[in-house]
Amino acid sequence: GGGGGAHRDLLARHRAVLPDWLALYYAEPIEITHGEGRHVWDAEGNRYLDFFGGILTTMTAHALPEVTKAVAEQAGRILHTSTLYLNRPMVELAERIAQLSGIPDARVFFTTSGTEANDTALLLASTYRGSNQVLAMRNSYHGRSFTAVGITGNRAWSPTSLSPLQTLYVHGGIRGSGPFAHLDDAAFIDACVADLRDMLSQTRGVAALIAEPIQGVGGFTSPPDGLYAAFREVLAEEGILWITDEVQSGWGRTGDHFWGWQAHAGNGPPDMLTFAKGIGNGASIGGVVARAEVMNCLDANSLSTFGGSPVTMAAGLANLGYVLEHDLQGNARRVGGLLIERLRAATAGLASVREVRGRGLMIGIELATPGHAAAVLEHARAGGLLVGRGKYGETLRIAPPLSLTVAEAEEGADILERALHAADAGTDGG
Ligand code: PMP
Repeated sequence: GGGGGAHRDLLARHRAVLPDWLALYYAEPIEITHGEGRHVWDAEGNRYLDFFGGILTTMTAHALPEVTKAVAEQAGRILHTSTLYLNRPMVELAERIAQLSGIPDARVFFTTSGTEANDTALLLASTYRGSNQVLAMRNSYHGRSFTAVGITGNRAWSPTSLSPLQTLYVHGGIRGSGPFAHLDDAAFIDACVADLRDMLSQTRGVAALIAEPIQGVGGFTSPPDGLYAAFREVLAEEGILWITDEVQSGWGRTGDHFWGWQAHAGNGPPDMLTFAKGIGNGASIGGVVARAEVMNCLDANSLSTFGGSPVTMAAGLANLGYVLEHDLQGNARRVGGLLIERLRAATAGLASVREVRGRGLMIGIELATPGHAAAVLEHARAGGLLVGRGKYGETLRIAPPLSLTVAEAEEGADILERALHAADAGTDGG
């Protein structure tokens, strides 16, 4: 990467005024200036195939005309109104999400981020159950507010343990290491369930279990199908709520299912689900869906000033309509299936690759060597491809916009194959 004077100046100003812990990718960080379809361009005019979708916020495609038009039209009428007045796009999007959620008698509350959605879910669960004790998964990520870091198992993203919640961390979200790593799927599930029972026998009145069906930041790790269904049986005995964090796994990304929890649906829908990231195709929408009985447990007037803004709701409606009309869940299944096979074949002989895993267009490549992902990212960037990193060991995260074509999947896999080889050879990422 080159880096012109203006670019270097922006980087220096970023470093001078923003927090040190707001880490940027790449030795020469990228300034994205525009996008189209599955591609983005940087300030120096370089074009990249985007296999990370701006950390999954661009669910469908960059600059999708349907979404751009809906946002422009709404912004042209009024940029923002208050949640104290009726809001047609908010009601319409809530109706669609309630119906898609699978939760009976569902109510929807909109926020502006996934963090705030999880905060709200915990507020509801704690209030409903009269307890601040919650269960979360090891290696989880749920956001960066004071309560959200308190349920984030991965310490790399959870800078404090002074949480207002009392959190107990459960086994099961990751398979690669830990005491149950050697077990087959059925025995793994049994062991995790026994561990959960043991933990619960030492507590009283736990409010909820919150879990990502596939851990996102944690490296796209999937528990065996059925794990959460088995957990659910145990939780139901004590009335403990099940909250599924669908911020990364929702909206058809996993191909086979619209929501990640549906791979574990043995005992029906969750009590609550949280969503964010992709639904606005880049516009800031988050939210919680809960059974009415749970949602309505708050004895207070409570609203979010920006949650449900007509502009972001217009983006969500246009985007969701596009996703459903064009069967992008089916596209994620088909193209994601091809991509994962291609990546497995391309990396089969590489000692530096431990595993290629995933569902649909949510694919993780676990590397064998600590610190190796940064080098692979540099080489991929030099080859014109953006991918992400994850934190279970050393993982590359691949989550392209759901409209990815077969040709683009093949092109990206080829670039990544070359990047992995180049990183192995230890050559300069350029
Ligand atoms: N939950 C999960 C599973 C996430 O991956 C993230 C974001 N990486 C969040 C919650 C927090 O969402 P936000 O960044 O919108 O606050």
